[in-house]
Amino acid sequence: MKIAIYPGSFDPVTIGHLNIIRRAATIFDKLIVCVMVNAAKNPMFTLDERVEMISRVTDDLPNVEVDSSDELLADYARRRGSCVIVKGLRAGSDFENEFQMALINKKINPELDTMFLTAESRYMYLSSSTVKELGRYGVDLADFLPKQIIPDFEKKIGK
Ligand code: ADP
Repeated sequence: MKIAIYPGSFDPVTIGHLNIIRRAATIFDKLIVCVMVNAAKNPMFTLDERVEMISRVTDDLPNVEVDSSDELLADYARRRGSCVIVKGLRAGSDFENEFQMALINKKINPELDTMFLTAESRYMYLSSSTVKELGRYGVDLADFLPKQIIPDFEKKIGK
């Protein structure tokens, strides 16, 4: 069984993330979306909230599992029996950082490969941080977030 892992902060999950999840879920037998703890970031949503929101927006995808981890990604992948990491690539600016991470992960776990799916052009501009910024100014979020989680976001920003 081909198991892939799609790691990220997902703070919160956007329709750009969801597009990658749907596409990756058709390529692999099983896709584990893993919310990774990043000590350097100060998240808007707790780990459990992020996991629950992703579970809610992927509940029509039977081969998608949602999990969280504070392990090193290369160790997590080994433990879950996966040898593929899926990443979304937006602009060239994502590339340098992602390329470095892919090489480091491969060094730590030589069985681990990283596969990049290019963002769809209509989602190229979209990132969780942009959404958080726009949301605070009251911009309509329907083009950015899955509709099921818009109330969660509005509640969080006190709208
Ligand atoms: P963000 O950059 O939005 O804060 P994450 O750190 O959660 O997101 O990113 C998880 C993964 O999703 C990364 O591989 C990132 O490049 C990818 N990604 C984020 N937004 C998009 C998008 N709009 N289209 C395709 N991939 C994306």
